[in-house]
Amino acid sequence: MLNGFLNIGRRPTLRFALECSDQPFSLRDMFFWKSLTVTALLAALTGCGTVRTIWFHPATDPLAAFQQRAAKYHSVVTLPEFETTPAAVQATVDQTIAAGNAALDAIGQLRAGEVNFHNTIRELDDIAYRFQGASDRLGLIEQTSTNAAVRDAATDAIKKLSAWSVGTDYREDVYAAVKAYAGTQPALEGEDKKLFDETLRDYRRAGLDLPKDQRDAVEKLRQELTALETDFEDNVTKATNSLKFTKAELAGVPDEFLAQQGIKTGADEYTLKANITFHYIMVEDNAQREATRRRMLVAQCELARDENIPLLQKILVRRDEVAHRLGYASFADYATETRMVKNAATAIAFLENLKAGLQPKFDAELEEFRQMKVRDTGDANAKICVWDWRYYANQLKKTKYNVDAEQLRVYFPYQRVLDGMFTIYQRIFGLKFERVEAPYKWIGDLQLYTVSDRKSGEPLGLFYLDMYPREGKYNHFAQFGIVEGKLLADGRYQRPVCALVCNFPPPQPDKPSLLSHDEVETVFHEFGHAMHTILTRAKYSRFSGTSVPQDFVEAPSQMLENWAWDKTVLDSFAADYRDPRKKIPREILDQLKASRLATMGMYYRRQLSFALMDLALHTQIHATNAADVLPLSNRVLSDVALPMPPDTAFVAYFGHITGYGAGYYGYAWADAIAADMATVFENSPDGYFDQQAGRRMRNEIYAVGDSRDINVSIEKFLGRPRSLEPFLKKIGVNSTTSP
Ligand SMILES: [Zn+2]
Repeated sequence: MLNGFLNIGRRPTLRFALECSDQPFSLRDMFFWKSLTVTALLAALTGCGTVRTIWFHPATDPLAAFQQRAAKYHSVVTLPEFETTPAAVQATVDQTIAAGNAALDAIGQLRAGEVNFHNTIRELDDIAYRFQGASDRLGLIEQTSTNAAVRDAATDAIKKLSAWSVGTDYREDVYAAVKAYAGTQPALEGEDKKLFDETLRDYRRAGLDLPKDQRDAVEKLRQELTALETDFEDNVTKATNSLKFTKAELAGVPDEFLAQQGIKTGADEYTLKANITFHYIMVEDNAQREATRRRMLVAQCELARDENIPLLQKILVRRDEVAHRLGYASFADYATETRMVKNAATAIAFLENLKAGLQPKFDAELEEFRQMKVRDTGDANAKICVWDWRYYANQLKKTKYNVDAEQLRVYFPYQRVLDGMFTIYQRIFGLKFERVEAPYKWIGDLQLYTVSDRKSGEPLGLFYLDMYPREGKYNHFAQFGIVEGKLLADGRYQRPVCALVCNFPPPQPDKPSLLSHDEVETVFHEFGHAMHTILTRAKYSRFSGTSVPQDFVEAPSQMLENWAWDKTVLDSFAADYRDPRKKIPREILDQLKASRLATMGMYYRRQLSFALMDLALHTQIHATNAADVLPLSNRVLSDVALPMPPDTAFVAYFGHITGYGAGYYGYAWADAIAADMATVFENSPDGYFDQQAGRRMRNEIYAVGDSRDINVSIEKFLGRPRSLEPFLKKIGVNSTTSP
């Protein structure tokens, strides 16, 4: 059965946001938002063509030996068979839809006396699994194929699969079979019971429990919403706003940036776009003139305004109506029901407490910025406005902390980072990675690795690495699931396959690829998702790998980002590529940490302002007050972070409003869990290298996935109840003033 309408789908392994993410999507993991519509819905795929077992002679081929070894563990390792022509992509779509329909027909034709767990509940998970395999693979092809026609065909394919899958929610014959099985009042336990309960819950959430006329109304609203949301997101993507400045107006903005093609457009004319994040950040970070910073910010807050404010009103009113028809007080309650937080009130209370706890630090940071502005302007009453904070945060970094993150690159040659990270992950999680030759490569330098248990040698899965940018490739960093873990009907376990798709700076003739510290942090994060995918042992695909609640999925990877800030970890691999005896100087790392902490109050208050705005809109907007969308969003933003200029429309360009749908709170929520989880390593004898902590992480978090309540898994890993203290400490909140 489907994962539920508008639910975040199965693999939203997004990196929630970055310091500079004024753009509607974060720089990491962006792909997954695009695939939500597909992944959130049920569908099916033909049994053939998904995966292919390739047998080679085991004596000469390590991959074949790996596959044969899997058989001893009653598991199966298969490589995806990638479509390489538009025709093959189209054929997959046709087969997927045909086989999906046939499989659903078979369930729908069961008579009451014939239904059982296997031919209804489990079969639906199998159908969803096969669909997921096709859409995941096509999703990866869309982002990585070197052939533009194949990429376009994959985009088209995903749209078609998505459109088809919407209708499958409302197959009454299938629902009748499921209800007939539920009518037998089966005595189920554990993961089977969870699958059964959640399948029924999904039907209820789709409106199948309602009388026909009401159910039809919900279906119609959902269809309208799909179109409205697509339009909203398209408008965000297409919105553009060019501004012309003179050189004097751009004083402070780096010359090499202004010299770039397309920016210098006249003798004393520079054209910048408010919709290009890089342009926006360069101005907001560096422009000495307040009027210039203000103009840029206001221009960004006007993007897509005329088109998207009316659309957002319609979206919020329809979401509210769907929630009411399904018996929820608000869309936020509806959306959070399937997540850790469970309801809107808990999410709001969490954010409000954090907001209050951050107040002293936030005030102190603003006062430090203000003093800088007083010195700049000579105005003793100067105030920090929303267009000022980036500039003064940047000045603070440069003057007080003397931070130049670029100077760290020499310590992070690509291969050293990769080898070092592999050594750490293999050690803490008890694994062995081995490079093998990929039978099919979509690019020449594609790498493929096997993952096995270090002690027993049990094969656990495979991962691909596609590491450098090229024309037409996905341009951020993300982990893509390709084959998910699942217990197959024949009793064997399908081991997972995934890919890391990155964009590291390519090597140059005179020097290797050198990573920034931020990129090192990112690869630790993304590889954490790969571990989550590969180390799964969940029986059902619904619960396997990263298919965990949306407000938890980032937590393990956010935890692993800490590794990139630890001197001992970094010293285990980072060294100057020109002289490997030289390690990262402690002062530089300390300065970087101090400068990060120095603006943490501003950073989190800003995050909280987005999260609280998201929840306010999804709890307070109804058909009767749709006109309040803009004033309400500006009021919340102004109250939690800094006052927004009157009559601007930030929310019109904030794609997370439709993408997250009452889920933005999950950023801080998962961060808090990540900090809590990190303490298990920090308090262990070997710190971030501790193998017992790693083993517990593997068993209690990665292996179980969503096959049991995630709260139970977290507590088992922690060995104690959850605590907010580690997070507050990390962000510089004194716990005596804390929530
Ligand atoms: Zn992520």
